[in-house]
Amino acid sequence: EVSLAGINKAFGGRMVLDNLDLDLAGGELLALLGPSGCGKTTILRVLAGLETPDAGTVRISGKDMTRTPVRERGIGIVFQAYSLFPHMSAVENVAYGLKVAGTSPGKRTARAKELLETVGLGEHAAKFPAQLSGGQQQRVALARALAIEPRVLLLDEPLSALDAQVRVHLREEIRRIQTQSGTTTLLVTHDQEEALTVADRVGVMLNGRIEQLGSPQEIYQRPRTPFVSEFVGAVN
Ligand code: ATP
Repeated sequence: EVSLAGINKAFGGRMVLDNLDLDLAGGELLALLGPSGCGKTTILRVLAGLETPDAGTVRISGKDMTRTPVRERGIGIVFQAYSLFPHMSAVENVAYGLKVAGTSPGKRTARAKELLETVGLGEHAAKFPAQLSGGQQQRVALARALAIEPRVLLLDEPLSALDAQVRVHLREEIRRIQTQSGTTTLLVTHDQEEALTVADRVGVMLNGRIEQLGSPQEIYQRPRTPFVSEFVGAVN
């Protein structure tokens, strides 16, 4: 479904992604796990079209999209925090996502309300971001990203600004919604527990390379390098 092949990216002479290959199967949730600065967000930005790679190919649904503009890639993105429009209510924020997707004005509100129901916010549709908790705001952001029925959903540390209890609850929600919609999803996180509990496969990153890619069980039980072992906290 999604394939990154031979991706290089340098900033100011410093290699951030080093000949990186990554494939996502249709409908899977893949988590990229790694320490700060290892290049996780850069991968996501290359896939979204927010960054052009120095070398390599980005394919989505079999099509070479390396040079395709962001809007034409069919990608939904949820960032770490503060990504909602503060002057729009929850339902208006989600409806905005539908506007971008070209839905007619008449249908937008009804569909936006449905999406808010899906993320458990049916009763909060008229509230503004400032009237919602952090977890609720991230649900709105998720509903907005899903509104375009993206081929690929990118989640960049979507839970890291939330407190522990909300984080655990919301990651289960994300998993449920992702499974239900069957949307191919790439989640970026530095939280090993989050990656291991929520993903179908986990890629552990270090210095612009994927050290190991496998099921959560494989990564946890059979870490292939000392770094992976240490980072996922497994005992060898
Ligand atoms: P974090 O969890 O801290 O966001 P990350 O693994 O997502 O880390 P990236 O954001 O991909 O890491 O950044 C990788 C490296 O590339 C960092 O050293 C960062 O400073 C550098 N970098 C990223 N974007 C740019 C840019 N636009 N210009 C210059 N350097 C950049």
